[in-house]
Amino acid sequence: MADAKKKSDPLMFIVALPLFAAYGTWIVGVAIFRLVRWVCWSVRLMRPQLVCPSCGTPNSLYGRWQCQAPGCGAVYLGAADRCLRCHSGASFFPCRECRVSIMLRPGR
Ligand SMILES: [Zn+2]
Ligand SMILES: [Zn+2]
Repeated sequence: MADAKKKSDPLMFIVALPLFAAYGTWIVGVAIFRLVRWVCWSVRLMRPQLVCPSCGTPNSLYGRWQCQAPGCGAVYLGAADRCLRCHSGASFFPCRECRVSIMLRPGR
């Protein structure tokens, strides 16, 4: 009786449900992962200085920087992570003591 009313196959739905659930979990998981990562890196950039992972020297995020973007090369004063001329984001800057790259945000 009940089967005659409903045309869609309940078995197909049951088979597809875990796939949709897995897909949804994946999408939500990736979104949360990206949000957490973004918050972590943003908090990192809010600090006035970052400690070098190699020599432990505190490096100020504010100062005089040269943009490494192709075709720019502007020298600017301010926060290390964004060029004032072309607005391209830097992903790292060199330690002032040992020149080891200090990460500003996840690499490409
Ligand atoms: Zn260093
Ligand atoms: Zn630039």
